[in-house]
Amino acid sequence: MKIAIVGSGYVGLVSGVCLADFGHEVICIDKDADKIAALLQGIIPIYEPGLDELVKSNVSAGRLSFSTDLPTSIAPADVVFIAVGTPSRRGDGHADLSFVRAVAREIAGAVTGFTVVATKSTVPVGTGDEIAHIIASINPGADVAVVSNPEFLREGAAIEDFKRPDRIVIGIEDERAREVMTEVYRPLYLNQSPLQFTGRRTAELIKYAANAFLAMKITFINEVADLCEASGADVQEVARGIGLDNRIGSKFLHAGPGYGGSCFPKDTQALVKIGQDFGSPMRLVETTVSINDHRKRAMSRKVIAACSGDVRGKTIGVLGLTFKPNTDDMREAPSIDLIRGLQDRGAKVVAYDPQGMMAARELLKDVIFVENAYDAARGADAMVLVTEWNEFRSLDLERIKSTMTAPVFVDLRNVYPLQEMARHGFTYVSIGRRQPG
Ligand code: NAD
Repeated sequence: MKIAIVGSGYVGLVSGVCLADFGHEVICIDKDADKIAALLQGIIPIYEPGLDELVKSNVSAGRLSFSTDLPTSIAPADVVFIAVGTPSRRGDGHADLSFVRAVAREIAGAVTGFTVVATKSTVPVGTGDEIAHIIASINPGADVAVVSNPEFLREGAAIEDFKRPDRIVIGIEDERAREVMTEVYRPLYLNQSPLQFTGRRTAELIKYAANAFLAMKITFINEVADLCEASGADVQEVARGIGLDNRIGSKFLHAGPGYGGSCFPKDTQALVKIGQDFGSPMRLVETTVSINDHRKRAMSRKVIAACSGDVRGKTIGVLGLTFKPNTDDMREAPSIDLIRGLQDRGAKVVAYDPQGMMAARELLKDVIFVENAYDAARGADAMVLVTEWNEFRSLDLERIKSTMTAPVFVDLRNVYPLQEMARHGFTYVSIGRRQPG
């Protein structure tokens, strides 16, 4: 099958590479000429475990190519995926559909023969109708079936998620697309991944409902963590106790500094707006958004409290900047609010992240970036663990402590056992747990 993917970011590139690995002939398109030039030279513009090798093997097998030329690339395609960004629109939180609309216009003028246009970007209910309308109004003769095929992969585990998804959701309004999309995903279908065919609007809403539910689950346990701190309970035990109930499930019950990333913040906000547009308010999601915003800002106050209420002139070492481990993505990362909050109160921030420092340099001013966790600890009045990269799970705590000015360790991911930190003589502040004594 010939597949064209428009937008070669986290989703487009991973989807394209995996579809090529299934045996399809794939071309990944992007308007960013530098990105395509890099890919043509074998340089992967994002950090995603395993992506490098998979790109190389599929390029050399002749199944994967890259281009900036949309019209030529999509003309022979059986399926064109739209995988461009849908960021929050500045000012109101609506999903910004300008990239999607621009691609729809370009596709309209370039398709030949029957073509399935499948939207992988996360888009509000009704966007598929709009894409179909744009294409029909520009090229009334175009024979296209517009499909919604939302993507559920997680950065950091994207290849595994794409190749072994819990489900594949496909929203269609034209029966001809069913056969084509079944063919696209045949290897997964044979692997027993369920294909859920449904209506296009339903598929669009499934993506937002899934993300909002997960964001709510995280926010719920975060509030429970606050209650644990206030009442002397332990949030990890509470999470285990409720998570073992199959109706609840143990995933997404890790208390932390609030959710971030390229999806949850913008998708929860967009769902609030979608609800308002349809006169059907999403009050739980509205509350989730506001609790999470508040929480991210509250994390700097937690660190300040751990430093006896004052960080002016003090040095704070920050471990982990990306919104989660195994990615270089800094979008909406909790570290941003934390560091700005500390700097506003006069702290000097020294930070280390295994993959995120290049992106972080663009976002964070006056931060000293260092090459490892131990350099971040040197002379620090407190350490803050923000992102639970594996390399922060087994730190040489004696070494860390020996170079710090004061043994204060704030762990926003509950990585370390309370007893161990007490044994090493740290004043240890975590989330929803209290140090004994
Ligand atoms: P991204 O910003 O990493 O990539 C988008 C790419 O599209 C960029 O490289 C950009 O240059 C390109 N682009 C924009 N306009 C273009 C045009 N007219 N022609 C060609 N290329 C164009 O974004 P992403 O993280 O891959 O997200 C893409 C979509 O997938 C979003 O709607 C997002 O919500 C959704 N999504 C993302 C994830 C994730 O984990 N990142 C997971 C599921 C769904």
